[in-house]
Amino acid sequence: MNDWSDIRTAVAKLCGDFPGDYWRAKDKADEYPVEFVQALTREGWLSALIPEEFGGSGLPLSAACAILEEIHASGGNGAAAHAQMYVMGTLLRHGSAEQKAQYLPAVARGELRLQAFGVTEPTSGSDTLSLRTTATRDGDNYLINGQKIWTSRARHSDLMVLLARTTPKDQVTKRTEGLSVFLVDMRDCPGLSIQPIATMMNHGTTAVFFDNVRVPAANRIGEEGQGFRYILSGMNAERILIAAECLGDARFFLDRATAYAKERHVFGRPIGQNQGIQFPLAQAHARLHAAKLVVADACRRYETGEVAGAEANMAKMLAAEASWQAGEAAMQTLGGFAFAAEYDIERKFRETRLYQVAPVSTNLILAYVAEHILGLPKSY
Ligand SMILES: Cc1cc2nc3c(=O)[nH]c(=O)nc-3n(C[C@H](O)[C@H](O)[C@H](O)COP(=O)(O)OP(=O)(O)OC[C@H]3O[C@@H](n4cnc5c(N)ncnc54)[C@H](O)[C@@H]3O)c2cc1C
Repeated sequence: MNDWSDIRTAVAKLCGDFPGDYWRAKDKADEYPVEFVQALTREGWLSALIPEEFGGSGLPLSAACAILEEIHASGGNGAAAHAQMYVMGTLLRHGSAEQKAQYLPAVARGELRLQAFGVTEPTSGSDTLSLRTTATRDGDNYLINGQKIWTSRARHSDLMVLLARTTPKDQVTKRTEGLSVFLVDMRDCPGLSIQPIATMMNHGTTAVFFDNVRVPAANRIGEEGQGFRYILSGMNAERILIAAECLGDARFFLDRATAYAKERHVFGRPIGQNQGIQFPLAQAHARLHAAKLVVADACRRYETGEVAGAEANMAKMLAAEASWQAGEAAMQTLGGFAFAAEYDIERKFRETRLYQVAPVSTNLILAYVAEHILGLPKSY
């Protein structure tokens, strides 16, 4: 499989312009890394997956994984912009020719930001099929009412891919039907309000409220009632891309911790000479290596069109665990200095913890594997 070494080198070079103190300052001020996202956009990295006919580079998923992994390995955070890579897939796979022609080239040129993905709601959480936001047909429009939560980057996006209920839950024949996907233009959107949520890391996440928001019916993606299927079809790419970010985080922790373990002398010798320091790092390396192979396998299956649901989910779970364990080993290796912001370990430690919860929580992955791979009874 192509390792995309040219892409890795170029992305690492770009990230060199955004060192630790850039990310620390953004973290401290809880500010969106707008300069970094603009640089990524300018160099075309965010449109890597958009087909060439729409102005993107038409690269496969493994190339996008390489981009995100390098951002994270450098100490940066792709969460500021990663959704643009997978959210556009819903439009690409299920949108009409007119919708694709209208939006994708502008996204590829960096004129339109497609960064927001409104699925999760406060009352339904992981149980997406119980979401309550409604879209009611009103002539040539739909009226949207309800609330989303954890809609990341909503304040830094022009468009949002929104999942809303178009048929009441008790009136659908199949429980997976009755939801529809809309492309909401948030730039001039009466009735839409966005509230930032303060979180343990700098993530630009929000709660979004819809009060009779009018969305043209022409902005519905695909058939009415089939939206859950469309969102699901994009989730494998999302899982794999996030897994790649976790691999990058794990590399960051290991690079920093091993360098520190060689330099830091206590009791007259480098701390890295102690097996108590070596072994957690060696174990983290082994786990990173294993996760890398699982992510590559999921990526290969995705690219060749094989069913990749279980592999994508397992890749995300194992990579998120690998990055957390590498972070834990780095925290212990740096000792007191791990807690000092200037070493960037505590920031990355906070950032990488998210991936055991979002975009899908580990328990839900285990429940999926138990049911779909092991044939155990459905537990939820
Ligand atoms: C910083 C951040 C950014 C996010 N960005 C976005 C975004 O841009 N767009 C978006 O739509 N969503 C986003 N999310 C939402 C994210 O996908 C959800 O938080 C996640 O899916 C879990 O849902 P929940 O938080 O409601 O947890 P819940 O569903 O309430 O679950 C809580 C806990 O219970 C466990 N649990 C629940 N049901 C079961 C069960 N049947 N069996 C075993 N365990 C169970 C879960 O695994 C979890 O550990 C974001 C979340 C965060 C924190």
